[in-house]
Amino acid sequence: MSDCATHCNKTRNGTHFTAYESGARSDWPDHSLEIPGLGEVHGKHFLKDRVGLTGCEISINSLPPGGGMPFHHTHQQNEEVYIFIQGKGQMQIDGEILDVQEGSIVRINPNGLRTWRNNSHEPLLYIVVQMRENSLKQYGFGDGVVPEKAVSWPD
Ligand code: ZN
Repeated sequence: MSDCATHCNKTRNGTHFTAYESGARSDWPDHSLEIPGLGEVHGKHFLKDRVGLTGCEISINSLPPGGGMPFHHTHQQNEEVYIFIQGKGQMQIDGEILDVQEGSIVRINPNGLRTWRNNSHEPLLYIVVQMRENSLKQYGFGDGVVPEKAVSWPD
């Protein structure tokens, strides 16, 4: 299957935004991409180029029941956060096993040796955010600005 041929080619650009339809969660397993040395990988979809991210990479991911990453990996510069939104599975980080499920959020240092699997009977869905370690200078409400403009919506 080609990368997102059917359901996720809708992008809308405004002056200060890009909006992208990635498909329903039930369609996430249909995403696929080519990874050099690995071939076609199913259930992984990177968003940086889709929406023009400049400070992080985000992927939306699905692992089928019984599926697992066939390798460990680390990173050079970037920390990662794994946000599990459906299903159950396990992560192994530096040999330590973590049970994960909907609602589990796991941050990993760049040099943490990581792999993970779906040892359940339903799809494991998760979002991965990857960003440069120690790059964040201000955040949350500390970065927000509230101009003097009343909120109104068309009827
Ligand atoms: Zn990674």
